[in-house]
Amino acid sequence: MVNLHFMTNKKDLILIAGPCSAESEKQLLTTAEGLASGGGVNYFRAGIWKPRSQPGYFEGVGDEGLEWMIKLREIYGFSLITEVGNSAHADKVLKLGFDAIWIGARTSVNPFYVQEIADVLKGTDVPVFVKNPINPDLKLWLGAIERFEKVSNAEVLPIHRGFSLSGNSRFRNVPNWQIPIELHTLRPDLRLICDPSHIAGKRDYIFEVAQKAMDLNYSGLMIETHPNPDTAKSDAKQQITPEQFWDGINNLFFRKNYTPDTQTLSQLKNHRESIDVFDQQLLEVLAKRMEVSEEIGKLKNKNGISVLQPERWKSILDAAHINGEAMGLSYAFIDQLFKAVHDESIDRQTKKVKK
Ligand code: PEP
Ligand code: MN
Repeated sequence: MVNLHFMTNKKDLILIAGPCSAESEKQLLTTAEGLASGGGVNYFRAGIWKPRSQPGYFEGVGDEGLEWMIKLREIYGFSLITEVGNSAHADKVLKLGFDAIWIGARTSVNPFYVQEIADVLKGTDVPVFVKNPINPDLKLWLGAIERFEKVSNAEVLPIHRGFSLSGNSRFRNVPNWQIPIELHTLRPDLRLICDPSHIAGKRDYIFEVAQKAMDLNYSGLMIETHPNPDTAKSDAKQQITPEQFWDGINNLFFRKNYTPDTQTLSQLKNHRESIDVFDQQLLEVLAKRMEVSEEIGKLKNKNGISVLQPERWKSILDAAHINGEAMGLSYAFIDQLFKAVHDESIDRQTKKVKK
């Protein structure tokens, strides 16, 4: 047996790789071979039961895939991880001695299912990786993590896989980095993993997202790998070959993690002071803007004009995009900022109307 168990890569990243779904024994063994030849990963992943948003798609090979994974562990020594979506799944993987489990985004959204799985895991020492729920709700994510922390003797690790939101993002699941950052602020003890495959949805963007996660000091990556990605039975567009996986991993850039020298420290301090001044100005401008919104609300109320004026709103947003872009501000940023400002403004005006 080749023992690659808990190999440490150059940055002590927790690496989780393997196909979206187990499809055949050969597919798993070929993937494992490719991952082993690049140095090995901490966990080999494969979905056995696939939670599909709509019926009629490949729903996983089921139990026989578990045996293929066990065989792969005997040959390559990788620890095994798979998704469990209910207590029956959890029972099976525990009995077979899987090394870890992950909770999918369509399960972490449901406290009943989370608790049902947690009950099965009570007193075990199997690490649990908890994907963020599909909706951007930090409390729901943290709640799922806490349910497992209460019962398990092992580590519980959040996986950031992005959020299903409508809107024009080039990503399949918008990352909404603010949410994992907030999670980290609340619980700095949790080792955060990024799943750039499900955020990106397209293989071209995977390592851009992975790099961002490294810049934010994430502790690991889960990346879908398949020997022949285009033929994959699920998530074909976002899977990469083991060779592409190693290429990307080896090209990640890691920031130096030492205390800066005094000159850098003083430059940082100056910049931070400027930022604080600008942030204060931003708040003041926003407060003034909202006061004007309220005045408009009063006028609309008095004259029976409806609060939402779609044409006016469209022209504000269009102008903001044009002007913002000319100042080097990204489309997505302007979009989020102005939508938030408009929401608040509508809120203020409807309150005035109610009064
Ligand atoms: C997966 O990892 O293949 C998967 C189904 O992920 P998610 O729950 O993030 O959609
Ligand atoms: Mn997948």
